[in-house]
Amino acid sequence: MARYVVKLVDRTSFSPADEHAIQVATQKRFDEAFKDTADSADVSWGSGTPNDNLVVHFVPDREHSYIKQKWPDANIILEAGGHTYTGARPMSASEVYRKRDGGDFHFGSYAATVFHEAMHNLYPFQNADFVHKKDGTGLAAPIYSRHTQMTDHNKELIRQGFAVKNPQYL
Ligand SMILES: [Zn+2]
Repeated sequence: MARYVVKLVDRTSFSPADEHAIQVATQKRFDEAFKDTADSADVSWGSGTPNDNLVVHFVPDREHSYIKQKWPDANIILEAGGHTYTGARPMSASEVYRKRDGGDFHFGSYAATVFHEAMHNLYPFQNADFVHKKDGTGLAAPIYSRHTQMTDHNKELIRQGFAVKNPQYL
């Protein structure tokens, strides 16, 4: 029975109420992925530590990328809700943007983005298509939005991904 640690790092000063809502929405996604197994992934806010299985940095927007401070060559697409950098593999670095085009997102959208970035993060030796072209069904497969249903394959990927710990960019 494993309890994996998912750490959300607030680098954009959300209110405590916002943080709570995002934590609850994100926990829901991981609970669904681990449903009917002996394992779980526990989501909390705080500072990243070497013991964490997944660390996701929330930053104000793409222009304030935490990843780019360290790896200026990171290629973050314009419409991205988040990004994961694996150029320093096996270490992974994940971030989520609070705003895109000036507006905040629904809490469920942040949760979906964390889950999506987790699939990239936990497989640092795969390329982006490993997640994006999974199941060959475009938008449905990789959890892009809060309306996307989780497939059994998504759950499998997340469970297997957590089973092998890779270092996280703190
Ligand atoms: Zn992606």
